[in-house]
Amino acid sequence: MLKKWLALAAIVLGLGVQSAISQAVPAFSAAGLVKLGDSVRYGSYEIFKIGEGIYQLKDQGDPRSVKGGLIGADMYIVLGKDKALMIDLGNNYMIGYKQDEILPRKNAKEEFLAVVDGLVGKLPLEATLTHAHPDHDGMTMALIERKVTVWMPKGEDLQGPKTQHGIDPAVYTSFDHQTKTFDLGGGRVLTPLMVRGHTLGCATYLMPSDDMIFTGDCLGIGAGRSLRGAESLKMWSDDTQKLVDYIKATLPPYQRYGLKVYTGHSVENVIPGFLNINHGRLDLSYLDWRFLQDQALCGNAILKGQWLNPESGLHYMEIVNSQTRQKVSLFTFGIGAVEMPVAEAFKAAGIKMYDEPAAK
Ligand SMILES: [Zn+2]
Repeated sequence: MLKKWLALAAIVLGLGVQSAISQAVPAFSAAGLVKLGDSVRYGSYEIFKIGEGIYQLKDQGDPRSVKGGLIGADMYIVLGKDKALMIDLGNNYMIGYKQDEILPRKNAKEEFLAVVDGLVGKLPLEATLTHAHPDHDGMTMALIERKVTVWMPKGEDLQGPKTQHGIDPAVYTSFDHQTKTFDLGGGRVLTPLMVRGHTLGCATYLMPSDDMIFTGDCLGIGAGRSLRGAESLKMWSDDTQKLVDYIKATLPPYQRYGLKVYTGHSVENVIPGFLNINHGRLDLSYLDWRFLQDQALCGNAILKGQWLNPESGLHYMEIVNSQTRQKVSLFTFGIGAVEMPVAEAFKAAGIKMYDEPAAK
C-alpha cells in the first residue's frame, strides 16, 4: 500500500506543471493537421497548417465587438531544426482590452499556451512582433512568464503596450532590422524588412526557404490598414518600394511569383467587393508578389497625384471605415489598396485641393 502511495505521489510531483494546465483546459492535439490547409479549432483559436511545421493561428476576435476586436488577428508559428519562432501574439484575453471591446476570458493564458506547446513541442521558442499594437502584442505576458524572449523591432512605441496592457517595456528585447536575422536551423532563416507607415518600426519577415513573407499590418489589405497622413504615406511608399526592390534582387522570378504573403488580418483579404466594387469578390486566401508590387505602385501613384487622371490606373472612391465609421478615401491600383484621408493625399502630392471642401 505504501509503495502504491509513493508511486502516486511521484507521478503527481512529476506532472505538477503539466497537470496545472491540463486541469484548466483540455489538451491541444495537432493530430488533425496533416495536409496543407488542414485546420483544427481549439477554444477561441483556429489553427491552419500552411507549410511543413508552419502554422497560422487565427485569433477570432470577439464577434460581439463593433470596434477593433471584431476582426481578430493572425499569428504564425514556424518550426526550424533547432528552434521555433512565433510571429505576433494576438489580442489580450488575459485582462482584455476595452478600446477594442475585447473582454477577458477564463483560462485565456492556459488556452494560448496549450496551443503553443502543442505545436512547438520540445523545441526552444522565441517570439517576435511585427509592431506594438494591442491586437498583435496582447498575449506577451503569457510567454514572458515562461521566460521566452520576445523580440520587438526598433522604432516601435513601447508606451503603447504599457498603457494598453500594462506591459513593462523592459520585457521586450529590441532588434535592429538591418542586422538581425532569425535562423531557426535546417535552412529556415527569417530576415526582417522594415516597412514604416502603419507604425514607425513595422517589421515584415521574409523566409525564402518556404517562399513566404509575414507582413502583419505593415502591408495588408483592408480598411484598418490606414495611413493617417502625408508623412506616413511617403515613408510607407518609400519602404514598400525598397522591399519590392530587395525581393527582386534576392529571389529569382519563379520564386517571386510563388511568394505567399501572410498578413495580420487575413479576414480582410476577402472583404466583399473591396477591390472590384462592381464585380463582387476575389478569392484571396493569401496574397502574393503581384499584391506587393501593386502596393508600391499604388503609393507612388498617389504621391504623383495620379488619381486625378482616369487613365493612370489609380482609382479613388469614398468608403466608410468599418471601425471608425468615418468616411475615408480608398485608393486602389490593381490589387494594391491604400486608405487615407483625401486631403492628406493632396498634401502628399503637393497639389492644392480644389472642388472638395477643406477638411475641418
Ligand atoms: Zn492589427
